[in-house]
Amino acid sequence: MYRIGQGIDFHQMVVGRPFWLGGILIPHTKGALGHSDADVLLHAICDALLGALSLGDIGKHFPDTDNTFKNIDSKILLQKCYELVQARGYAVVNIDSTILLQAPKIMKYAPSMKEAIANILQISTDDISIKATTTEQMSFIGREEGIVATANLLLRKI
Ligand SMILES: [Zn+2]
Repeated sequence: MYRIGQGIDFHQMVVGRPFWLGGILIPHTKGALGHSDADVLLHAICDALLGALSLGDIGKHFPDTDNTFKNIDSKILLQKCYELVQARGYAVVNIDSTILLQAPKIMKYAPSMKEAIANILQISTDDISIKATTTEQMSFIGREEGIVATANLLLRKI
């Protein structure tokens, strides 16, 4: 039995915030703004995990009105989402994701991001795909006002 999941997340990019992406801290002049650490890739993966089993979304499970989650490390949120998946007897087969941002160049950090995600989901880094694209200077992404991530994944009943 297989289930497919999809997630998408958006955050503003602002001066004065640390830039957490894919579970790691990336040196940059701006960081993502949010209630948690605003890790857009981990949030997209969380939503894909929840979506695959029709469990709602990250906002339902971890509301931004709850101070418990203020500035929380999104690796903890990913862990909690995965626990919900595991409790229903499923494991991740593979993940394919895309990050949309104008700057900085992030592909050199992809191996570290894959390791951080693989550690939580207990899968091989070979089963995690992280791609990146700019929007050719167009829109809020091109103006470096925001960042978007999408994730698709497959779950397998174990
Ligand atoms: Zn988010």
